[in-house]
Amino acid sequence: MGGEEDIDRAVASSRRCYESDEWQSLTATERGELLDALADEIEANIDRLSRAETLANGKLLSAMRSQVESLPGWYRYYAGLADKVTGDTIQSDKERMFTFTLTEPYGVVGVITPWNSPLMLATYKLAPAFAAGNTAVLKPSEITPVSAIMLAELALDAGFPPGALNVVTGYGDAGAALSTHDNIDKVAFTGGTDTGSKVGAAAGKNIIPATLELGGKSANIVFPDADLDNAVVGAVKGIFAATGQTCIAGSRLFLHESIHDEFVDRLVERAESLALGDPRDENTEMGPVAFDGQFEKVQKYVDIGKEEATLVTGGEQRTDLSGELFYAPTIFTGVENDMRIAQEEIFGPVLSVLTYEDEEEVIELANDTEYGLAAGVWTENVRRAIRVSSKLEAGVVWVNAYRESSFTTPSGGYKKSGIGIEKGKDAIEQYIQRKSVWIETEGIVSDPFKLI
Ligand code: NDP
Repeated sequence: MGGEEDIDRAVASSRRCYESDEWQSLTATERGELLDALADEIEANIDRLSRAETLANGKLLSAMRSQVESLPGWYRYYAGLADKVTGDTIQSDKERMFTFTLTEPYGVVGVITPWNSPLMLATYKLAPAFAAGNTAVLKPSEITPVSAIMLAELALDAGFPPGALNVVTGYGDAGAALSTHDNIDKVAFTGGTDTGSKVGAAAGKNIIPATLELGGKSANIVFPDADLDNAVVGAVKGIFAATGQTCIAGSRLFLHESIHDEFVDRLVERAESLALGDPRDENTEMGPVAFDGQFEKVQKYVDIGKEEATLVTGGEQRTDLSGELFYAPTIFTGVENDMRIAQEEIFGPVLSVLTYEDEEEVIELANDTEYGLAAGVWTENVRRAIRVSSKLEAGVVWVNAYRESSFTTPSGGYKKSGIGIEKGKDAIEQYIQRKSVWIETEGIVSDPFKLI
């Protein structure tokens, strides 16, 4: 239950570390070596880390394990990038001037993360932030604080100087104290759009940059020429993987009217056969909702959906299982795009199915949301794939795939889904500032009254 004072101490500690000779004297290559060493530490602790994640948020151990297994790759990718971030020598149009740019870190980065993929979402920020030469204070979600503390311990074991990564656990007030702190130089946030808006406002007040990765209501569009077997898998993956508790959930499924009935039948059959149970059991396909408040939110939206549309399966707690947070995979049909279950993020296993007549209409409907995080397109027609993906207002579009992610490939939210880029080599730009340096080469100072 860290609070303002703890955030104050953590920021001061990360500042001290940032300004220390120990940190400042590290070359970019040496920072890369630290990140490599952290990757080794994570590799040696995959079991502990993935169990900590599952015990805290109830997501499948197999899914958390594969996330944790992927993390060393992320740290190694940015380790390699650390000494490849370069400035430019500029072809100046001014006589006698030699100009070049330097890339420099911001200083102390405040990192605030949600509970659904704790270590992975922290890594999206920390790896490029460290590679660029910043230090950081991480405030994880109140629901999933443990893995962040473990990560800080591993960073120390890897040789990071004390203070390079501070973790303050706590509730929203700790997050607010961090994002409004006047001694951080940059904030990187993943979470809900309402909270993101507050974090962005605080950054604006302090005139610091903010990277915001926020909510979504992503469209998963099936065209009549799609491979329907694959598209059914993609629809299930889009909404029931991770119990729907993912920012990129394909929570609005658009079906062409000619395939609607058959597709829904197949989807319902699959939804009803999903194996719910203990997330630590390797046969489980869908685990519980993460915590009471989230369960209540899911039930609230299902109640709203029952008033607005047609419930075809689910819509209730699964009381046959031991544990109170199991929710039946839920599908609504007859959904119109202006209904609340089509516009508001539920963050649970609840799918809204909509129909459309033609390509133009579905693009318009898909874009008719305040969010713009992700989208899926299912078609065998390559021209259509290119046309539609370029017209969708979303930071990532998957064609004949869904929920793919890699450290190599940048993405960021459009519209109210966020500001800035994470992943890929572009992400490191979020953690550096560029300085231009002008050097006069002939010893002649230009006319003091003429600026240009
Ligand atoms: P929240 O926005 O509620 O919380 C995110 C983090 O912010 C938590 O650590 C939280 O602390 C903290 N926080 C709460 N209030 C404030 C505040 N006033 N100032 C600063 N920090 C604050 O999101 P959830 O944890 O509920 O996560 C779910 C949301 O995250 C969904 O909307 C989802 O779409 C989004 N998300 C986006 C992703 C993306 O890449 N775009 C990826 C994953 C999730 P506390 O735990 O105490 O509330």
